[in-house]
Amino acid sequence: MTLEDRGPGPDAIYREELLAGRFTVQTCGDCGQSSFPPRVFCKHCGSAALTRVEASGDGVVYSTSAVRNRPDKGGDHNIALVDLAEGVRLLTRVDGAGPTEVPIGARVKARIVGGDVPHVVFDLVKE
Ligand SMILES: [Zn+2]
Repeated sequence: MTLEDRGPGPDAIYREELLAGRFTVQTCGDCGQSSFPPRVFCKHCGSAALTRVEASGDGVVYSTSAVRNRPDKGGDHNIALVDLAEGVRLLTRVDGAGPTEVPIGARVKARIVGGDVPHVVFDLVKE
């Protein structure tokens, strides 16, 4: 068997789903827990019985940091750890909020951006 025979890996499948407008996480058929980022084996029990499910996109900010950058390097922005409703934590950013304007505990909603190089960002949910 060559590498080409194995088909796309979990990262490639994840990107294909994003390109199709679906933000997915993996759920384990053996232990029932979710995994992210994409992987071959369940990080909780080691099973290969991972299936892909579309995420709700609902999350809560677990922590956040301000990143200071020169303007020609993209300027200041935030990065955040977001706990998804599915039980996984993502390193991401909260769009539309300044570097220090992301409250811990705030509810956020996922959105796919980036066109040909898709990735997931979050927006603050207006309470
Ligand atoms: Zn498992």
